[in-house]
Amino acid sequence: MIGLDGRFYRITADGTAYPVQGTWKTPFAAVSYFDRDRKAAIDKEMTFPELLKYLDSLLPSPNIFYAIRIEGDFGYIKTRSVPRQSRPYPKLTEVVAGQPTFDLKEIKGSLVGFRCPYYVKGVNVPGYHFHFIDSAKTKGGHVLDLRLGRVSVAIAPTREFCLSLPLNPVFDATDYEHQGELKARDVE
Ligand SMILES: [Zn+2]
Repeated sequence: MIGLDGRFYRITADGTAYPVQGTWKTPFAAVSYFDRDRKAAIDKEMTFPELLKYLDSLLPSPNIFYAIRIEGDFGYIKTRSVPRQSRPYPKLTEVVAGQPTFDLKEIKGSLVGFRCPYYVKGVNVPGYHFHFIDSAKTKGGHVLDLRLGRVSVAIAPTREFCLSLPLNPVFDATDYEHQGELKARDVE
């Protein structure tokens, strides 16, 4: 899923983007109000590792949260989207081992994501996490690799982190202390 300018899109397993309907549910989402604080422009080609290193150089501290939005021309983007799963649910690490990936070339769009501090491990992903959607809002996904063209970068730092837990009997019965194995798999 990707949220941009108050609109949300679901990327299906074939890499196609659809507007999210108000009745749909998601097992996980990280969202933020985007109050742009820092901006920069990049007008040279950069690889994904070069981009992350450059972003690090713009940030005042690794210990707070940042929402990041990068818009413009991308020479190449490799994305994935995880197919819908059914019970008994496998671990995400097992699912992504057989994930479909997509190569997008010479495309305009938006890269949006977060940089989370190390100490959130367990409730979110430490470091950078980006999703992409093209400017026509037709395709995208979770970003695995990219090459930048000419883009603008906007960064919104925040010192607030609010966690909402699901109201769900399976969540309540899961034994997270022992690697998340379900004690009560058939609850519901
Ligand atoms: Zn993702």
